[in-house]
Amino acid sequence: MTRIYLDNASTTPVAPDIVKELLPFLETQFGNASSIHAFGQQTRNALELAREELAKEIGAKPSEVFFTSSGTEADNLALKGVVLSTLGEPIQIITSKLEHKAVLETIEWLQKKFSVAVDYVEHDAHGRLDLDDLKQKIRPNCLNLISIMHANNELGNINPIKAIAEIAKSYNAIFHTDAVQSAGKLKLNVDELGVDMMAISGHKFYAPKGIGAIYIRTGVQVESLLHGGTHERNRRASTENVAFSVALAKAFRQSQQNLQQENLHIASLQKAFLESLSELNVPFSLNGDEANKLPHILNLSFPIPTKQKLAGDVLLLALDAAGVAVSSGSACTSGTAKPSHVLLALGKTEHEARASVRVSFSKFNTIEEVQQAATRVAEVLKRLL
Ligand code: PLP
Repeated sequence: MTRIYLDNASTTPVAPDIVKELLPFLETQFGNASSIHAFGQQTRNALELAREELAKEIGAKPSEVFFTSSGTEADNLALKGVVLSTLGEPIQIITSKLEHKAVLETIEWLQKKFSVAVDYVEHDAHGRLDLDDLKQKIRPNCLNLISIMHANNELGNINPIKAIAEIAKSYNAIFHTDAVQSAGKLKLNVDELGVDMMAISGHKFYAPKGIGAIYIRTGVQVESLLHGGTHERNRRASTENVAFSVALAKAFRQSQQNLQQENLHIASLQKAFLESLSELNVPFSLNGDEANKLPHILNLSFPIPTKQKLAGDVLLLALDAAGVAVSSGSACTSGTAKPSHVLLALGKTEHEARASVRVSFSKFNTIEEVQQAATRVAEVLKRLL
């Protein structure tokens, strides 16, 4: 049985041409980018070119781009960095319950450790945010830090970032967006979006795992979380990961250049998958904002009767046994798969959340693969419905 990988919102394979780009920096060009000798200067140049390349693609200055080890670290740096730089001043963070744990857990930690005020924007059953509620939640006489993701990693919903940025601007709030899922799928221009900080992660757009980046607009004060050397202009001490930074920048540029073509292919995969499910008479409903979502993420709920006790990740495991890799968006903690916090926040019951899966496509998937996957999904569901 060939396994079919439809969990690309979790991570993508590294594109073969990106592997080629990064290998020289593991083999021959291995110098420490902070060394003053020629080996170091060679990698320093490559690193700064990668920074320039990424900055150009997102419409930023190179001095506003910082490489990190992941999207999680980028989100942590943005949120903790702002709070630590304003300690002693009143600050409120406004976010939503639909954010990734990299944002939610960081904010909860800040709330516990530093008594930072936190509020959550209301949303409807499709995950659409209520911007009037956002306006009402902004507090006078304090610094408001808004953190709203560009696109949701479980539902694919694209949030109205420009409108949120306008609200943030009119109240002098700082606006961070987690663009980890939209990077590689949507055009990301920091001025057009109007954001002050933006996190991305290489492994969502065919670069390796373990590399991310944060855009920080000039003038936004962000305290460093790692201390040591003066790397990344004092914002992140650590010997730079030149190979992966180069890979991230190349993969990002490639994704931006091929955006339309790749998205068209991915949309055709989504269509073929849904059509096959319908032809096979699989009952399902779609979660999220169908009119306004990323092309590569589908979140489906199946009407599995409650008498089928869906403990943990039973559905995912059954699909995996049938050779289809998808995900639930659940966090697996000490062996207990919790139902998705996003689906619960949309008002689903635990059972409904466990009867849902996220299917996510990449540019490497084929129509035949997704049709085959739909056939296997239908077979698994026949036993459960
Ligand atoms: N934010 C979002 C929206 C994500 O989807 C992810 C990863 O799934 C992250 C943050 C974390 O990124 P990383 O895996 O690079 O830490």
